[in-house]
Amino acid sequence: MAGLHLKNLAKTYPGGVAAVRDFSLEIKDQEFLILVGPSGCGKTTVLRMVAGLEEISAGELYIDDRLVNDVAAKDRDIAMVFQNYALYPHLSVYDNMAFGLKLRKLPKAEIRENVQEAARILGLEDLLQRKPKELSGGQRQRVALGRAIVRKPKVFLMDEPLSNLDAQLRTQMRIEIAKLHKNLQTTFVYVTHDQTEAMTMGTRIVVMKDGLIQQIDSPQAIYDHPVNVFVAGFLGSPGMNFLEVLMIEEKGCIYAQLADALLPVPAAVGQRLKGQGYLDRKVVLGIRAEHLWGSGDFLDLHPQCTLPGRLEFSELRGAETYHYVRIAGREVVVRVSPELRAATGQEVRVGFNMAKAHFFDQESGVNI
Ligand code: ATP
Repeated sequence: MAGLHLKNLAKTYPGGVAAVRDFSLEIKDQEFLILVGPSGCGKTTVLRMVAGLEEISAGELYIDDRLVNDVAAKDRDIAMVFQNYALYPHLSVYDNMAFGLKLRKLPKAEIRENVQEAARILGLEDLLQRKPKELSGGQRQRVALGRAIVRKPKVFLMDEPLSNLDAQLRTQMRIEIAKLHKNLQTTFVYVTHDQTEAMTMGTRIVVMKDGLIQQIDSPQAIYDHPVNVFVAGFLGSPGMNFLEVLMIEEKGCIYAQLADALLPVPAAVGQRLKGQGYLDRKVVLGIRAEHLWGSGDFLDLHPQCTLPGRLEFSELRGAETYHYVRIAGREVVVRVSPELRAATGQEVRVGFNMAKAHFFDQESGVNI
């Protein structure tokens, strides 16, 4: 069992930088938790406080119900894997992996058993006698993981472990780490600013900004129901489209007015916004590329949800194509089928699937 409980954790660095503020989170045993957010939002600081590498300025940290604020890093039973591997260049793969165990004076036979077990899990058996400089980036990262695994820690902390790898290796290691989590059945806390890693690897995501938690939920729930403009724009590639619209009511129906067009808002959403006093006010309409249509029956079936625009740029990604279309003076990105051919500068139509639209308060950015 290794659950973590972070209770109102805060970190203020000397000089007054409030890197983490009022951070509360319960991480369940065997969970794969992702901390995600832009550079400088405090992800690494949270991880370092959990690891015991950074003093906690305020709040409490519990590991399995034991308060560990003042427990030394080496006594927390936690292993941390860093982005730069931090391998000893003069030691072989075997000795790099065995290093921590030798320091702890474990019996030789036990060290050998642990290293061989980790090497088997990570596919490093044939590389044990090599030096780090004789390995590829992916293999080095696996050794760094191996060095953590041999200790059989209660919790693994990983700080952007894949950011030094090229795109293809990153994809491969992403899958390997997810499998590793399944095999080891241990708690993983993983820091990244890569939203693909965030969306695909973990069971829950914590989105951070400026030292504060913005949202905690499963990847799908965060993608489908972002609590504010920041989260909506941060997760998803391409990012969500945002358009300023005016909420109006005509003949009992509620519309989002965009230039000359009136986009009908689903009744329940419209009534909710009306109830909160948003009629005759500007709000931000958010809609993802896959909820806009560039072709197909939708455009003919729902002419009222369709706006004219001009194609500015096409991005071909193989399985799908993204059209960047200027409508009502703003650019939106529309996911279209790769079969749809259109030339830059061409007049096109864009259909809005209004059932999937989000509405955000203009000032606070909150999803309303
Ligand atoms: P990145 O993705 O760039 O690694 P991060 O989200 O991990 O960023 P942190 O490294 O936790 O962010 O830093 C959070 C804030 O604390 C930043 O403003 C950073 O400049 C500041 N900071 C980090 N370490 C120190 C330090 N030792 N002394 C002073 N300020 C620091």
